Amino acid sequence: MSFQNPVFIPGPTNIPESLRKACDMPTIDHRSPLFGQILHPARAGVRKVLKSDSAEVFIFPSTGTGGWETALTNTLSAGDKVLAARNGMFSHRWIDMCQRHGLNVEIVETPWGQGLPADRYEEILTADTNHEIKAVLATHNETATGVKSDIAAVRKALNAAGHPALLFVDGVSSIASMDFRFDEWGVDVAVTGSQKGFMLPAGLAVVGFSQKAMEATKNGTLPRTFFDVHDMAKGYANSAYPYTPAVGLMNGLNQACDMLLKEGLENVFARHTRIAEGVRAAVGAWGLELCAANPAVYSDTVSAIRTPDGFNATDIVTHAAEKYGVAFGVGLGEVAGKVFRIGHLGSLTDVMALSGIATAEMCMVDLGLNIQLGSGVAAAQEYYRGHPAAVQKDAA
Ligand SMILES: *Cc1c(COP(=O)(O)O)cnc(C)c1O
Repeated sequence: MSFQNPVFIPGPTNIPESLRKACDMPTIDHRSPLFGQILHPARAGVRKVLKSDSAEVFIFPSTGTGGWETALTNTLSAGDKVLAARNGMFSHRWIDMCQRHGLNVEIVETPWGQGLPADRYEEILTADTNHEIKAVLATHNETATGVKSDIAAVRKALNAAGHPALLFVDGVSSIASMDFRFDEWGVDVAVTGSQKGFMLPAGLAVVGFSQKAMEATKNGTLPRTFFDVHDMAKGYANSAYPYTPAVGLMNGLNQACDMLLKEGLENVFARHTRIAEGVRAAVGAWGLELCAANPAVYSDTVSAIRTPDGFNATDIVTHAAEKYGVAFGVGLGEVAGKVFRIGHLGSLTDVMALSGIATAEMCMVDLGLNIQLGSGVAAAQEYYRGHPAAVQKDAA
C-alpha cells in the first residue's frame, strides 16, 4: 500500500486534509459547555444533509452496523414481522441481524444486480391486512453490487397498500453522496456511518428517526442499552452524552456537513454522478459489464465490474495492492471472485478517478485480460472533457 495514493474502495473513503485536522483535537471535557458547540451543529448539519426538517439525529460511537441495530432495537419487539429484500451482501447482513434479534423476516429474494422490488413489496403489504409487518427494510445503495434502489417507490408501495409499517433505510453508502430525501420519502429511520459520504474515519453511526419512529420506541421491547435513543436524547437535552462521545470525530462530522453544504448537496450529487459516468464509460470501453442490471439501478458511489468467466476478479484487487499500492474492493458473497469494485464516493475528483481507472487497466493487462491499455482512460477522459467539473476558485 502507498499512503500517497487515493483508495478506490467504497468505504472507508479518502479523508480531506481539513477533516483530518478537524478530527485531531486536544482532549476536551465532554461535560463542559464546549461539547455542546460540537454536538448541536453536527446534529443540525446531518439533518440538513438528510433533507429533513424534523428528524431526530443520533450520533453513536459505532459504525453503520450499529446504526442498523439502533433502528431495530429501539422500535421493534421479539417476534415482530419485518419485510426485507435480499439483493446483496449488505441487505443480507441486515436481515441476519434481524434474525439474530428474534425478528421474523419475510425475505424477498432478489437477483444480485437488481434493485429492491417495490411492486413485490406492495403486493405483500397489501396482503398483510392485519398489519403484522412492523417495518420495511430498504438498502438504498447495495454496496456489494453497485445497485441503487428507488426509495420513493418503496414509500409509494407502503402508501398504496395503506400500510402503517415503519420504513427503515440503509443509506450507509448513499447519504451525503447520492440524492437522499428523508422527509419527502417518508423515511422513518435512516442509517449511515462516518466513513463513507462524510469522508471521515470509521467510528460513528449516524441515524435519523422520524417522529413516527420515536413514537414506536415506546412500544418496542427489544433489549437496548448502548443504542438506546432515549438515553441519548436525554443527554442531548443537556448538551451531554450518556457515555463518552467520540469528540474528535463529531467535530469532523460538523465540519464535513459544512463542507458538503457549502459545495451544495445538489452539486455533491452531480459530482458523484459525473465521476461515476466516467468510470462507467471506462468499463464499457474495456468491453466489460457492470453487475448492476440496467442504467436505472447504476450506483453513483460504487461500480461492481464483472470479469470474464474463469477469471478470478479478486486477483485484480490483490495485484493492485501488491504491485501498485492501490486499493480496490473485492466481490462479496454471491459475487465473490466474479466482480471487483471501484469505489467512487466521498472526496474525489475526475483526476483522481482517472488514476484509479488507469491502475485497474494496468492490473487487468498484467493479468492477461484482453484489454487495451489506455482504452478506459480515454473513454473517461472524453466524458470528463465534455462534462467539466466546477473548479474551486477561492482559497477557502
Ligand atoms: C459499509 C456499509 C454498511 C456497514 O457499515 P459499517 O460502517 O462497516 O458497519 C452497511 N450498509 C451498507 C450499504 C454499506 O455500504
